[in-house]
Amino acid sequence: MKTAQVENGILVIKESDKETLANRKGAICKVLGCGLCGSDIVKLSHNLAKDGTVLGHEIVAKIVEIDSDTDFCVGDVIVTSHHINCGKCEYCKNGNVSMCRHFKETNLKPGGFSEYVFVSEEHLQNVAYLKPDNLSNDEAAFYEPLACCIRAIRRASLSENSTVLVIGLGSVGILMAQGLKAFGMNVIGCDLISSRVNLLKSFGIEAFCVNELCESIKADCVFMTSGSDNAIATALKYVRDGGKILVFSSTPQNFGYANNEIYYRELTVLGSYSPSKEDLKISLNLLKNNAVKVKGLSDYYSLDNVQKAINDTVSNKILKAYIEIGS
Ligand SMILES: [Zn+2]
Ligand SMILES: [Zn+2]
Repeated sequence: MKTAQVENGILVIKESDKETLANRKGAICKVLGCGLCGSDIVKLSHNLAKDGTVLGHEIVAKIVEIDSDTDFCVGDVIVTSHHINCGKCEYCKNGNVSMCRHFKETNLKPGGFSEYVFVSEEHLQNVAYLKPDNLSNDEAAFYEPLACCIRAIRRASLSENSTVLVIGLGSVGILMAQGLKAFGMNVIGCDLISSRVNLLKSFGIEAFCVNELCESIKADCVFMTSGSDNAIATALKYVRDGGKILVFSSTPQNFGYANNEIYYRELTVLGSYSPSKEDLKISLNLLKNNAVKVKGLSDYYSLDNVQKAINDTVSNKILKAYIEIGS
């Protein structure tokens, strides 16, 4: 089968052995498509993935072979996330499910940018769902990335009608802003790129270019979906005293929020990484009910063109790439 593998910081197409069930419970799935996640790009650009790694985890896939105690059967089209927490360790007990060691070890084999994947019984039982009929494949592929946003929103534990500012309106910022709106927040978005500002406005959410943000904005929480170091100053400017900053992206220089600013202004800075089972469930419902709209957000690429999808995403030519693999 064809897979896209990491090689010296880029993805190259290689042939590898097709996954088989062998003695494993679970399903062999034909990957219909897989969204390209910002984290895939960071793993490549920061050399965090070994050569030979198959990236991609935002999959929509059709079951072609199955040995499972679940109700899934051959022919079902499913969405699934890639990690599952154990529910028993100290991280899990304290709500840090994405820090759970089992969470980090579980994965789709070999990865989403592949013609076939092995989805384990544990995945089927915990994080896989039938693709809702009213969602196209590229829309359903937002199941996992939207769930990441839902986790961030829930971790911020804000009261309804809080004023929130989303900085960075890439695909994740667009999801985050809509998710926050669905949770009853008073949402403002900002970006440097005016087409992205207009895109958020088209969802009925207030949005501005960063330099046009009203000076008087005092956000109860700022959601940092921008990967720019400069966004940190913007966050500190617009968060109210006593407010929160939810960190949702890595920044190139990895410098932080000033200690004294956190102290004197009584700020809370918190991170949010990857979703829990509950976040995933909420995400799928929001997509299904059209409370978060993702129609037309993705550009299609073939597996052969996955590296072009990465380049186009990095250069902001497109908002979100969906790699169409099978049918
Ligand atoms: Zn992702
Ligand atoms: Zn755990």
